[in-house]
Amino acid sequence: FSTFGTQPSAFAALPDFNVDGVRKDFPALQQHVNGKTLVWLDNAATTHKPQSVIDATSRFYSRDNSNIHRAAHTLAARSTELFEGGREKVRQFLGAADAKEIVFVRGTTEAINLVAQSWGHQNIGQGDEILVSQLEHHANIVPWQILASQVGANLRVIPINDRGELLIEELPRLLNERTKIVSVTQVSNALGTVNPVQEIIAMAHSRGIPVLVDGAQSTPHLPINVQALDADFFVFSGHKVFGPTGIGALYGKSHLLEAMPPWQGGGHMIKDVSFERTVYNAPPEKFEAGTPDIAGVVGLGAAIDYMFELGIPALAAYEHSLLEYAEEALRSVHGVRQIGTASDKASVFGFVVPGIPNERIAKHLDQQGIAVRAGHHCAMPAVRHFGVEGTIRPSLAFYNNRADVDALIHALHQIVRR
Ligand code: PLP
Repeated sequence: FSTFGTQPSAFAALPDFNVDGVRKDFPALQQHVNGKTLVWLDNAATTHKPQSVIDATSRFYSRDNSNIHRAAHTLAARSTELFEGGREKVRQFLGAADAKEIVFVRGTTEAINLVAQSWGHQNIGQGDEILVSQLEHHANIVPWQILASQVGANLRVIPINDRGELLIEELPRLLNERTKIVSVTQVSNALGTVNPVQEIIAMAHSRGIPVLVDGAQSTPHLPINVQALDADFFVFSGHKVFGPTGIGALYGKSHLLEAMPPWQGGGHMIKDVSFERTVYNAPPEKFEAGTPDIAGVVGLGAAIDYMFELGIPALAAYEHSLLEYAEEALRSVHGVRQIGTASDKASVFGFVVPGIPNERIAKHLDQQGIAVRAGHHCAMPAVRHFGVEGTIRPSLAFYNNRADVDALIHALHQIVRR
């Protein structure tokens, strides 16, 4: 059903994408919640998993389960092959030159903490500056604040305008001889803004400053090529790209990873240990102390296979079109104030309804089986720019369809009318 009158003619057709077929691959989407078919619009928080990811993980535990590298038996060989195969898939996913540039971590948060504590301690000192943006998730603020307080450095911030876009024109002023790293998100999780990271990287590099790109919200929605971007570090989380929780990756240029000290010590990251001296392994093993999340890597590999099979440019085009449909539909709801109206956006269409608390709206939506997030989205500085403490944040993935959007808009009309 469509609840907002006639369909906007500009959106009469979505790009050719078999969303009905895709939806059948996701068992979690088939369930009922509060008596209604689940409408999952909380994809910026986490995504559901296709059956192929669930099967790959289950197959690993029921057949191939072994620790990696350490034993010369058949299951260890299988497990190692699957683990390193997963690394190669991530390399392809990010367009990296070499699988050795891919370090497995728990997720985006751990990847940024790793860079801050390893690269940061080596390269950032008293009076130096770390440049982030006002759009950052707390995971790209707090690790740098911790480092800054440890070494006496300062955090500086690229501001935003009232559409939620970075004020890039401020960069020449903000980049100076004290700036040691720029760390920015490619897509804002709170507002959906797509940042011009290529431009930021070029400007930083022209002053010899490396850039970390937080890809937590771009990897589910856009094709990525770290070499074309010329990113020095790029980080993302498996659970946001239809893979398991607890696994993610850090990409770092070889020469940077080679020069960085290890972050954690333990098994697997060493070549030789005596009580006098330890010789570390080369990257990526140098940064992978202890038994890794092998099943997580297997699942992440399956998720990447799934996205490649659909075609990332195709799913991006479909999703972009659905986002335009959703934003237009949202404008039909009386009293809604959209938060985040950048000209280039992905997935997120956040809003508030002045006079109705966010939690009440989210609760009403949940009663209709519609899952959205209400709150600050771990991006308090971004949200506060708009004079609010939180928003309602529906966020799309390629398995969402117009019926999902229509159900949301219908429920919003109901609550606003009441
Ligand atoms: N950065 C951004 C832009 C995010 O959206 C998120 C998660 O929402 C993170 C970092 C942190 O990711 P994780 O919790 O998977 O480590």
